[in-house]
Amino acid sequence: MAQPNDCLFCGIIAGVVQAKIIHQDDLVVAFEDINPQAPHHALICPRKHLSTLNDVTAGDEALMGHAVKVGAELARKLGDSESGYRLVLNCQRGAGQSVFHIHFHLLGGRPFTWPPG
Ligand code: 5GP
Ligand code: ZN
Repeated sequence: MAQPNDCLFCGIIAGVVQAKIIHQDDLVVAFEDINPQAPHHALICPRKHLSTLNDVTAGDEALMGHAVKVGAELARKLGDSESGYRLVLNCQRGAGQSVFHIHFHLLGGRPFTWPPG
C-alpha cells in the first residue's frame, strides 16, 4: 500500500521524522509519545498505512495480532506487566484519534481509573 507523504507516522516509520524508537520489526514500529500521558507512553504503529481501525480487513489480522503481542512484550520490558498497563486504540475523532495512521497507545507506570475520559 502507498505510504502517504502527508502522514506524520509514515514519516516516523520512514525515518524522515525524528522519534525515540523503542522497537521495530518487519510489521510494526514503536516509539515514545511526544506528549506522554503516563510515565511510560509508547505508540505501536503498523508499518502499513491504515487510517483508522475501520480500515482493518481480514488480511490485517496477523498484523494487528502482532501489534498487540508487541504491546505485551514492551509492557514486560518496561516492568508494567504485573502492576498493570493500558493498550488503547482510539478510532475516529469522537474517541480522541488525532493522527490518522492507526496506532496502539501503550500506557504504564501509574495506576489508571475506569471509565476512561
Ligand atoms: P491519537 O490522538 O491519534 O490516539 O494519538 C496520537 C498521539 O500521537 C498523541 O498521543 C500525540 O501526543 C502523539 N504525537 C503527535 N505528534 C507526534 C510526534 O510528532 N511525535 C510523536 N512521537 N508523537 C506524536
Ligand atoms: Zn501513515
